[in-house]
Amino acid sequence: MTRVNKLTQEVSEKIAAGEVIERPSSVIKELVENSLDASSDDIRVHINKAGKELIRIIDNGHGIHPDDVELAFSRHATSKVSGINDLNKISTLGFRGEALASIAAVSRIELRTRQNNQKEGTKLIMDGGIIKEIGSTGCPVGTDISVKDLFFNTPARLKFLRKDASEIALIQDIVNKLALAHPNVRFSLFNNNNKLLNTSGRNDLFEVIANIYGYQTAKKMLYVEYDANDISLRGYISRPELTRSNRNYQTLYVNGRYVKSSFLSERIEKGYHTLLAKHRYPFAIIKMNIPQEKLDINVHPAKIHVRFSDQKYVGDVMTKAITNTLKREELIFQASPTK
Ligand code: ADP
Ligand code: MG
Repeated sequence: MTRVNKLTQEVSEKIAAGEVIERPSSVIKELVENSLDASSDDIRVHINKAGKELIRIIDNGHGIHPDDVELAFSRHATSKVSGINDLNKISTLGFRGEALASIAAVSRIELRTRQNNQKEGTKLIMDGGIIKEIGSTGCPVGTDISVKDLFFNTPARLKFLRKDASEIALIQDIVNKLALAHPNVRFSLFNNNNKLLNTSGRNDLFEVIANIYGYQTAKKMLYVEYDANDISLRGYISRPELTRSNRNYQTLYVNGRYVKSSFLSERIEKGYHTLLAKHRYPFAIIKMNIPQEKLDINVHPAKIHVRFSDQKYVGDVMTKAITNTLKREELIFQASPTK
């Protein structure tokens, strides 16, 4: 006879963890977003062996109160939402209170954290979600978290990870996007002590673009500044001769959140009129601000899709912003684009 039984907490924790944490880059995304939510302006990411051995994030944010450290690692524990009304006006990157619990369930954690009004910080050591040690410690203000041996207790997931080079590429992609979204934050990324990224935090988007794509590429970017009624667009697009064979170089943000949107990408490309060759895609780093009530961001951890209540209007604004930029540079409505 088949009977129903309740999963043990250990099993259900691992299943839930799998929904949020797929690979090293997802750990890094969640932890860096926590650092940003904690108002850090200096975030250092160190990985060993593509993050499979170690992911360490050191921030200078507001830290976690000693009485909250243990709680922060339990599921559905968050400082970012308290009541149902908060759900309509979420301004932080996280809010589901799942990341730390999920990461801890499938790795070994070592955490040090201190708030600036506390004399001492807290140290926590966990192993597969189980607390091994917790107590006070001297440490700088902020949070320093190490995630070791990711998926050591979920061999199926460990096997699913790709070669180091692919995992590193995914990590770089995530950190680059976070750095582009926050030019006011100093980011660094090291793999086995090799520097992969270092931004200054001087709040200069152009400089971050140069840090990531190189100065020669950055020089071919055009500044975008466009305001419609309630939509504002800021960022950079490439001159029409600087294109790639895919859209990986298009990074779009809506109200500070990175989103993937083939709809917006198409509208950007439409703004170039006939200047783009077939199957060639421009660079674009564009930040859109739009009243929160006009969009629906579905923030499932794996999905970053966005819907607008007036899709056509938003698309037209985007196209117009691009066309205007190219007109300003006298690249549009000329017989042949200037090189
Ligand atoms: P969420 O980000 O959705 O709230 P998390 O599991 O990622 O959930 O984190 C739980 C809580 O732990 C956060 O709400 C926050 O209060 C605290 N926290 C996590 N990381 C940091 C950090 N780097 N600095 C300060 N507080 C943090
Ligand atoms: Mg979080």
